[in-house]
Amino acid sequence: MTGRRTATVGLTCSSLSPEDEFGPPRLGQNRSYLRALTRAGATPLLIPHLDDPDLLRAAYQRVDALLLPGGVDVAPEEYGQRRHEKCGTVDPERDGTELALARWCLDDGKPLLAICRGIQVLNVALGGSLYQDIEVQVPGAIRHDWYPGHPRDLLAHTVQIPPGTRLAAIVRAEPPLPAVPGGAIELEVNSLHHQAIRDLAPGLTVGALAPDGIVEAVEVEGHPFALSVQWHPEELAPADARAQALFDALVQAVSFLR
Ligand code: MN
Repeated sequence: MTGRRTATVGLTCSSLSPEDEFGPPRLGQNRSYLRALTRAGATPLLIPHLDDPDLLRAAYQRVDALLLPGGVDVAPEEYGQRRHEKCGTVDPERDGTELALARWCLDDGKPLLAICRGIQVLNVALGGSLYQDIEVQVPGAIRHDWYPGHPRDLLAHTVQIPPGTRLAAIVRAEPPLPAVPGGAIELEVNSLHHQAIRDLAPGLTVGALAPDGIVEAVEVEGHPFALSVQWHPEELAPADARAQALFDALVQAVSFLR
């Protein structure tokens, strides 16, 4: 033991299927997120679904930063829509937990990295809305649902990252990326989602766009570090320093490490 002080990063859980071979309802999370955080030098702490705000707040206060991971669809009622037939499984307990945590991070300036479902939770937490299914609601959209049956690190499409964004600064590590007109950065990403941001919430700015105009990253204006991406950098990070850099940046944003 070296005695070095490390950051703790809380991450929420997915409800695991009660129908699987092990039976009882359980919570858990993909180890790829935990590994990306430990490579960044942080201690990951899983936060369960908690519907008592005082109990949840106690967990929130014990972590230095928050990661909102991927998962099932946000309940459309949370953004004032009726359920579309193509909306998938929802988890209202998880929605309540994550929307509260996201709002607290935004209020307090606590570092936040939101991934896939996380970008959708962040947008809904601030009053935005979602496409419940890209394929049927966005004519001409490219394919974004490269699951199941495909490697989770499959590079499915490009995104363009505008110059001057936090995301551009993080991924602009060597080797240089192809330049595109207007000074944007083009990055190849994986894509394991069938929903996406529809109306962008007030206070958010676009951090990346897919070729079909789907929002693939957003940033929070005026927040010390609140970044979110629609792709899955945790699956790319073992072989891609640019993807790992998102987790490194989250941990480096923890105030006592700055
Ligand atoms: Mn995509």
